[in-house]
Amino acid sequence: MKVEVDKESGFCPGVINAIRKAEDELKTRPKLYCLGDIVHNGQEVKRLEDQGLVTIDHDSLQQLHDTKVLLRAHGEPPSTYQQAQKQGIEIVDATCPVVLQLQKKVRRMYETEPDSQIVIYGKHGHAEVNGLVGQTNSTAIVIENESELVKIDFSRPVRLFSQTTMSVDKFRQLSLNIEQRMEPGATLQTFDTICRQVANRIPHMRDFASRHDAILFVSGKKSSNGKALFEVCRSVNPRSYQVSSVEDVDPSFWKDAETVGICGATSTPRWQMDQVADFVERFNN
Ligand code: SF4
Repeated sequence: MKVEVDKESGFCPGVINAIRKAEDELKTRPKLYCLGDIVHNGQEVKRLEDQGLVTIDHDSLQQLHDTKVLLRAHGEPPSTYQQAQKQGIEIVDATCPVVLQLQKKVRRMYETEPDSQIVIYGKHGHAEVNGLVGQTNSTAIVIENESELVKIDFSRPVRLFSQTTMSVDKFRQLSLNIEQRMEPGATLQTFDTICRQVANRIPHMRDFASRHDAILFVSGKKSSNGKALFEVCRSVNPRSYQVSSVEDVDPSFWKDAETVGICGATSTPRWQMDQVADFVERFNN
């Protein structure tokens, strides 16, 4: 039986950069705080925690003083930077440059067009979305699906942005839907700010999943791009299974299969996919 690990799966540049920054810091100090999970992958978080990374939430941030805190790739609202400054906290900023650019765009729009409604297509409560809403003094409207369009006043200008990891097709559909509802005289501007690191993987993932008899998709349960990419695999190959680690792997997954493909999300480390591949190969031998 042939086992293939997808070369294009695994960490995106934003996650690679955040992990590198954490590892560099931990070479010179025994402990580094990280605001939120550095990556939506429990095993990778545990690997870094074993080196001294301490994951905290916003409540625990309030208790810290005169230390260093890493901000992960998703980014943070301005209030987090202000709070850190007040408490003498040095920020190790690992916000992905793609997210930083998007934050700047949203902020510029908020400052130059105070009468326009800034709409963010994204997930409620997601760290990146909170970071974007923070650029607008919490005035931006978050839309996760079409049923929430009632929040928009279509008689006033609308400026639509997207969280970086949303679906391109759904963003286009949403833009069209808003356009059809706009009232005469009110303008709509849409900014497709979806990161191609995720979007471009979809056609490749479809091809990879259809080339194999069975697919083991390695990803943390909290990863939203993991969920989306796994659905892509399952849509073309019903024998696709999502596993968080080698412990979830069941040999029945590849029963009678001649080829098994192993792939993952932008939050999946390569070592984890290699570990699953190794397990499958050892089991078969
Ligand atoms: S998916 Fe794109 S925007 Fe998000 S962290 Fe990775 S490179 Fe940055």
